[in-house]
Amino acid sequence: MIERFSPPGTILSMQIDTIATPDLAWQAGALCAQTGADFFFPEPGSSVREAKRICGMCEMRSACLDYALANDERFGVWGGLSEKERLQLRRAAN
Ligand code: SF4
Repeated sequence: MIERFSPPGTILSMQIDTIATPDLAWQAGALCAQTGADFFFPEPGSSVREAKRICGMCEMRSACLDYALANDERFGVWGGLSEKERLQLRRAAN
């Protein structure tokens, strides 16, 4: 049940059964949340080495990569893989 903000006394609500809510609990343990996003979303052509190094120490790596693949995250480093590496992984799986 999602409640939409409305003026006081007129709260509207609607039932949405078709939208799955992703489990984002893994983000609470994400190392990148402590370092900031700059390493993980570098300028085109910049190194992702530091992001990958941090991902290598992150206990949420597997959940993060699963999330990125399931939600077709196209940009940045997720789960230790670059955009290009995730694309290759998706293609290999199909
Ligand atoms: S694996 Fe990398 S991008 Fe994913 S949560 Fe951990 S540090 Fe962040």
